[in-house]
Amino acid sequence: SPPSMKTFNSGGGGRTGRVPVGIGRKRLRIVVTGGAGFVGSHLVDKLIGRGDEVIVIDNFFTGRKENLVHLFSNPRFELIRHDVVEPILLEVDHIYHLACPASPVHYKYNPTNVMGTLNMLGLAKRVGARFLLTSTSEVYGDPLEHPQKETYWGNVNPIGERSCYDEGKRTAETLAMDYHRGAGVEVRIARIFNTYGPRMCLDDGRVVSNFVAQTIRKHPMTVYGDGKQTRSFQYVSDLVEGLVALMENDHVGPFNLGNPGEFTMLELAEVVKEVIDPSATIEFKPNTADDPHKRKPDISKAKELLNWEPKISLREGLPRMVSDFRNRILNEDEGKGL
Ligand code: NAD
Ligand code: UDP
Ligand code: UDP
Repeated sequence: SPPSMKTFNSGGGGRTGRVPVGIGRKRLRIVVTGGAGFVGSHLVDKLIGRGDEVIVIDNFFTGRKENLVHLFSNPRFELIRHDVVEPILLEVDHIYHLACPASPVHYKYNPTNVMGTLNMLGLAKRVGARFLLTSTSEVYGDPLEHPQKETYWGNVNPIGERSCYDEGKRTAETLAMDYHRGAGVEVRIARIFNTYGPRMCLDDGRVVSNFVAQTIRKHPMTVYGDGKQTRSFQYVSDLVEGLVALMENDHVGPFNLGNPGEFTMLELAEVVKEVIDPSATIEFKPNTADDPHKRKPDISKAKELLNWEPKISLREGLPRMVSDFRNRILNEDEGKGL
């Protein structure tokens, strides 16, 4: 066990008996809801790596045990299979609330963003924990302001196909601010823009995972609509740095966390081709309803107040997810007896 264990003093660490980690900081007990997912598992790696205790709550909707299996023998790590829509009692210092049905297949009719957020805020209130909500750029809807600043209120269709996700996150932000103002809960709100990297869901239809998987499988990349819609793509380690910086600073937010580099889907396909396989091709498919035409974060607020900005460009980040995707695609094919 690390040397810090030996200085454990159950009287001095507040509610969770925090132990010193290195110089000048107590070990924290941290809950990460949705920690078996793509972003969550990278965040957990970071928190465990710096010496904290982490409890993951996940119902494995889209998350996978494989994302955390390398931590199972670590005494500072715990995994609970639980749906955050149901109440739970824990004693913790920080709550990173990421649990969310992130793909359209799962988010239709699902109350996680409302009921799950309410329960985690109730928990934060009861134990005096700090609560961070991972909201989304989708709260801006199909934006009439470009790039989007945190002050923009958004242009969201309340009854569309994606509304359960967009409006669910908007409600989650409202609940967080109400608990902050009404019950004094310390809250932090991040509005995350499109993020990619290893452990991303292979099959949830996001553009980066689709293009990379299609290229590895030697299938054409499916470009929806005319491919001129834009997005900005953030590498997952940049996001994790941003979430931790936000949790540990004094500002409630909301803060945009994203990479301001803006690409059309045709440009993205070009980069995938360049960095993964020069022989890759594209095919056009009809686009979905309510697809935002453009999206790009204005991150000046996070730069100024959190001293954070992304470091990894699309051309640097894409190659880092290829071997993970190749291995998982290979395993799938073997599973099918191919
Ligand atoms: P993900 O699907 O990989 O992770 C979500 C995790 O939440 C999964 O492990 C899933 O099993 C779990 N989960 C879902 N419903 C649950 C419930 N009711 N109880 C317990 N666990 C539950 O997605 P991700 O990309 O890692 O997203 C993490 C968070 O970041 C989400 O809140 C998402 O809305 C937000 N976000 C992500 C992006 C992105 O580009 N990845 C963009 C904007 C916002
Ligand atoms: N809650 C929870 N864990 C806790 C405290 C609360 O899951 O440690 C849930 C609780 O069951 C409720 C929600 O969080 O559904 C909101 O709790 P709060 O105390 O704010 O509201 P109340 O229970 O008074 O309606
Ligand atoms: N898209 C695409 N091909 C795909 C998947 C998505 O061209 O195989 C487009 C989609 O129409 C959208 C953009 O890529 O304009 C980003 O889609 P994604 O679902 O990844 O993210 P979001 O729309 O939530 O930003």
